[in-house]
Amino acid sequence: MLYRNFPGMEEAPVSALGLGMMRLPTLGGDSAAIDRAAAMDIVRAALDAGVTYIDTAWPYHREQSETFVGDALAELGARERVRLATKSPVWLVESEADWDRYLDTQLERLRTDRVDFYLMHAMNAERWIKLKKLGGLEFLRRAKADGRIGHAGFSFHDSNAVFNEILDGWDGWEFCQIQYNYMDEDYQAGLAGLQRAAAKGLGVIVMEPLRGGTLARLPDPALDILASYGVPRTPAEWALRFALDRPEVVTVLSGMGSPGQVWENAAVASSARPLSAEERAVIAQARDWLRSRQAVPCTTCAYCKPCPHGVAIPEIFELWNSVRMYGNKDGPASWYKTAYLSHGNGADACVSCGICVTRCPQGIAIPERLAEAHRELAGE
Ligand code: SF4
Ligand code: SF4
Repeated sequence: MLYRNFPGMEEAPVSALGLGMMRLPTLGGDSAAIDRAAAMDIVRAALDAGVTYIDTAWPYHREQSETFVGDALAELGARERVRLATKSPVWLVESEADWDRYLDTQLERLRTDRVDFYLMHAMNAERWIKLKKLGGLEFLRRAKADGRIGHAGFSFHDSNAVFNEILDGWDGWEFCQIQYNYMDEDYQAGLAGLQRAAAKGLGVIVMEPLRGGTLARLPDPALDILASYGVPRTPAEWALRFALDRPEVVTVLSGMGSPGQVWENAAVASSARPLSAEERAVIAQARDWLRSRQAVPCTTCAYCKPCPHGVAIPEIFELWNSVRMYGNKDGPASWYKTAYLSHGNGADACVSCGICVTRCPQGIAIPERLAEAHRELAGE
């Protein structure tokens, strides 16, 4: 296992592969029913493989992940061997007192008196305003001073501009967690955000190196491109190597579902080295092929928003593109129904007023393309 340092921190370096506790095996299709025996095998394998960073959060597995992590580390006597990370459920906080209330509950669930790395979870423009308004930054300072947290950071899902605003908005940030993979170099914080955070002295943690698993299940033509390099590697290995290639990245989180996956990923993290020009070219070729399959040239810039009728334009195009690029319809179609159609934000809410079209730098005929997306995603 490779180990890397958080810049400016005195602790021992952490493993370049971190264990994410959001995709544990479950029983009976119930995300709250963690299969504890199977999940314990994963934690054991990770510790045996040299993983020293474990990442959980309040909502994972419908609030059962933190409790499982606390029990697992206590049972294995491993609390002191790992750096433990969890996150404040910013969206649930309604008063200044709530920050402490959630953290204290998390400490109980995790059976510890200190969270080594504490993050404001899934920050975006709206949550940043709320965090400042409700004294979230003062809370982080206080929790660090009294020892309940070791280091303060944030995880992030919004535009690069919002990322910069949050980064520059407080001098207490010590690390951040961003989505980064070879399809998302220009998405959300992206490569520019990663480099900017590192230049400001923050440690960068990568999440979604496999883009929710899609980069582990590529269509055959993309697999053929990767195979043309001549070294047998799984697509997951290519994606992990890409994330580990950045020297600014301290650890790459992976939500591993079996001990076998842990060992496979640990082997990659143990042998990671800077990618050669040839390897980068192969990845770029696979990315270009995937992008060539996109249904619509939407960059998810969100300039078209807000739609007066609430249509989630970039989100819907992103799901539609995902279906076309990765050849897997079930996940995106189900998410379209759950997250958008059922909330009245689906493409069927579009009245073709055309306002969004005037704002789109890509010149996309948005209403017409939304109708196509709806037919494909909703199966209508
Ligand atoms: S054309 Fe449709 S999606 Fe665009 S702003 Fe009007 S209602 Fe919204
Ligand atoms: S403005 Fe155009 S490119 Fe940008 S998110 Fe909207 S549809 Fe996509």
